[in-house]
Amino acid sequence: MTTRLYEHPIFLEHLTPEGHPERPDRLRSLNIALEHPNFSGLKRQEAPQANEDAVMLAHPEEHFFAVMRQVPEEEDRINQLEADTYASSKSLQAALTAIGGAMAAVDDVMRGAADNAFVAARPPGHHAEKTKAMGFCLFNTVAIAARHAQKAYGVERVAIVDWDVHHGNGTQDIFFDDASVLFCSTHQMPLYPWTGKKDEVGTHGTIVNAPLSANTGSDHFREAFKSRVLPALHDFSPDLILISAGFDAHHRDPLAQINLVGEDFDWATGRLMEVADRFAANRVVSLLEGGYDLEGLAESAAMHILRLMKG
Ligand SMILES: [Zn+2]
Repeated sequence: MTTRLYEHPIFLEHLTPEGHPERPDRLRSLNIALEHPNFSGLKRQEAPQANEDAVMLAHPEEHFFAVMRQVPEEEDRINQLEADTYASSKSLQAALTAIGGAMAAVDDVMRGAADNAFVAARPPGHHAEKTKAMGFCLFNTVAIAARHAQKAYGVERVAIVDWDVHHGNGTQDIFFDDASVLFCSTHQMPLYPWTGKKDEVGTHGTIVNAPLSANTGSDHFREAFKSRVLPALHDFSPDLILISAGFDAHHRDPLAQINLVGEDFDWATGRLMEVADRFAANRVVSLLEGGYDLEGLAESAAMHILRLMKG
């Protein structure tokens, strides 16, 4: 497999207050893991900054301007957008570059420049609803990437698989009425953002939630994948698979109580690649979402990326 990794130094300049779990060190720890010789074949590329218009693929213009107004001009200032969501002077640029990386990754897999891609960006995106920044997220990057694939390449069916330990409420909000996008999520429940029950299925049955109880681990996660996520993907036969790849279901993570290990992310990646091989000409684009224990994140993301490379 040819795998591209999108990165950019601007992702380290989106600042959150001291002690906030969503911090620049997350990417630094992943970068150290990627120095291993296993990753010498990885094609690493600087993410381009998306045009502001890209935000409007998944959000009304008012949301873009609302976020923009709250980004401080002073370099040493951090503004609170809502409960736990913050913006510093470079946050808008970082969020637009995360979107640019995701769109470029879609371009790569659609044009055959790569089989799959991973976008190592922050801020994350899956909690951002149509009109609301929340949960460390400003704009919904994965939703914008899905819309870009549909608009630029006429892709009919996009599947988004979200294995972040928190429910991807924003992505569900954006695609709730949309039969052209399948959204499958495994997440701890109850847990922030308190949505993601099994009976939230969307207007056309294209929302598939697989909640997991606290203090469960690999067995329950893999069972949820096998009994709910994979059958839904087979029924939907996607032309493109996007992954909201959070690694906070790792047992070391401080924000949740699901006990996955690195091998589980390798396993789940492999299962999605089998679906992509069967229906989607191998096209997989994976975007970093959460993951707040530096060691757990680096280990899990490295195993995920290695599986993308090996096939
Ligand atoms: Zn999360």
